[in-house]
Amino acid sequence: MPESFDVIVIGAGPGGYVCAIRAAQLGMKVACVEKRATLGGTCLNVGCIPSKALLQSSEHFEEAKHKLAEHGVVLEGVKLDLAKMQARKGEVVSANVKGVEFLFRKNKVTWLKGAGRIVSPGKVEVAGETYEAKNIVIATGSESTPLRNVEVDEKQIVTSTGALELEKVPGHLVVIGGGVIGLELGSVWRRLGAEVTVVEFLDRLVPGMDNEVAKQLERTLTKQGLKFRLKSKVTGATKDAGGVTLMVEPAAGGAVEEIKADVVLLAIGRRPHTEGLGLEEVGVALDERGRVKTDAHFATNVPGIYAIGDVIAGAMLAHKAEDEGVALAEILAGQKGHVNYAAIPGVIYTWPEVASVGATEEELKAAGIAYKAGKFPFTANGRARAMGDLDGFVKILADAKTDRVLGAHMLGPDVGTLIAEISLAIEFGASAEDVARTCHAHPTLNEVVKEAALAVDGRALHI
Ligand SMILES: Cc1cc2nc3c(=O)[nH]c(=O)nc-3n(C[C@H](O)[C@H](O)[C@H](O)COP(=O)(O)OP(=O)(O)OC[C@H]3O[C@@H](n4cnc5c(N)ncnc54)[C@H](O)[C@@H]3O)c2cc1C
Repeated sequence: MPESFDVIVIGAGPGGYVCAIRAAQLGMKVACVEKRATLGGTCLNVGCIPSKALLQSSEHFEEAKHKLAEHGVVLEGVKLDLAKMQARKGEVVSANVKGVEFLFRKNKVTWLKGAGRIVSPGKVEVAGETYEAKNIVIATGSESTPLRNVEVDEKQIVTSTGALELEKVPGHLVVIGGGVIGLELGSVWRRLGAEVTVVEFLDRLVPGMDNEVAKQLERTLTKQGLKFRLKSKVTGATKDAGGVTLMVEPAAGGAVEEIKADVVLLAIGRRPHTEGLGLEEVGVALDERGRVKTDAHFATNVPGIYAIGDVIAGAMLAHKAEDEGVALAEILAGQKGHVNYAAIPGVIYTWPEVASVGATEEELKAAGIAYKAGKFPFTANGRARAMGDLDGFVKILADAKTDRVLGAHMLGPDVGTLIAEISLAIEFGASAEDVARTCHAHPTLNEVVKEAALAVDGRALHI
């Protein structure tokens, strides 16, 4: 008799492992299939965590070289030990993935090692064994989107995975794609000494984010030394021992130009990972972009098969995958699991950071919703001045009639942390006045959020 489970989750990324833990907490017998040698998925192994480790380390290097002197801290002979920085990143990843293994043991989640394939509804095959499950959850995540004529070898032409592993600072790094991953990893290598050029098809960076924030981000990163080639497309790449030659032409078509690079980072987006899962045989429907189609309760068209995280529609973010994992486990337990997609923050961990939640001005205009915007700059905040981090602003958007907070868009120091206040406000259905009347400690960066909320009603105090 095959071993049988209440739930088998395929994929142990933040969507899958969190779903498995929550289902186990709710009393279900749970297995999680993972083909990687370690748990934690893209996020812990080759995504959020290693990139943040390198962002942190490279920011320390940048501070030591260029920023501490203005605080009267004079360092001489600052040097980069890249091997040590990379080893530290490896330790950070290792501690995190082992943490998930510990959580699986604690919650009695069985890790089925190997690639999982759905052989029929209720049956999953892993490493030649078949297991039975009342419910199957597809949480197989995503992979880097390829680009025609630009062949990845993870040495000279890399995806984010190779860009996290470089053993030498490239002389010239060309990043294809001005999205979150390209800008974060471009920042890392720029801080460590590379010349960085970002080639972006559109006329702006970070599509989907607030226009004003995107423009200021471009100005700020340009000041830091990143170069941008907007409205440009890469049509091919050739490699030799000396580096890579990229063919670049205007997005609208035109004369081809060659750009030489030591390393090219391909970061044009990510696509759902569904290969080898047996979805076609079982009849699980995909949408036009290859994502598993689900209803509002994460159910696919095949009874007993569900999907969450990067492999379904929506923002490709770890916390979105986690929240879907929790909601689905609760639904399977007969509870009312739910994800509020209007309150999911998005953060870019450059420095200054970018953070956003809820609707943008562009979306509100397109939907014909009347809104008021309140904006406050970090230059007028005492703590930001004490830190020497004055770039950026907080903008809060509220319904013109009801004052309900509809969105917030920020660029500035640590705004990835500040955004949580507005996610909470949106979750609670708070008004801008509720945020403005909440006492904020002084002197903190959070006061910029309060002042932006006051500015919605035209009554900011410190400007
Ligand atoms: C460089 C980089 C930086 C990022 N930074 C951030 C960030 O700062 N914040 C943020 O929110 N998001 C970030 N992301 C995105 C984030 O990593 C993803 O949104 C998140 O990992 C999605 O979780 P998931 O559980 O859906 O899938 P994944 O994390 O992709 O996990 C899926 C797992 O399924 C496994 N799998 C696939 N097929 C099978 C199979 N057939 N059998 C067994 N196992 C299988 C895979 O091996 C993988 O481990 C980043 C991504 C990258 C690449």
